[in-house]
Amino acid sequence: MERRKLAESFFSQLDEIEDDDDKLKLAEKTFNDVIDRFWMTNYIVRTDDGITHCGLCGNNGVIHSKCFTPRGNKIDQKFFCICPNGQALKKLRRDPTQCYCPTEKDFKKES
Ligand SMILES: [Zn+2]
Repeated sequence: MERRKLAESFFSQLDEIEDDDDKLKLAEKTFNDVIDRFWMTNYIVRTDDGITHCGLCGNNGVIHSKCFTPRGNKIDQKFFCICPNGQALKKLRRDPTQCYCPTEKDFKKES
């Protein structure tokens, strides 16, 4: 659904609701729908084995970002992903810094 249609749907439904708690629930659901759609549109990848994965976290639920800003500031931090696995971990109130993110070394075969 396009953004405008999603917004129109939200306001249309909002007009029909009188209870404030129900309005907040609708707003929260719409917000989550927007994030889910954004994730599905931009970050789902199909790997060589034909299985779809989250392109941000590899289905681990945590993104370990290691990069530099244009000014040279180092970023080395873990975040919950916006995918369903990341949001589930967030709801469990896990600490993303304590979550292990596999690296290429984990999958190299010993020779
Ligand atoms: Zn993810």
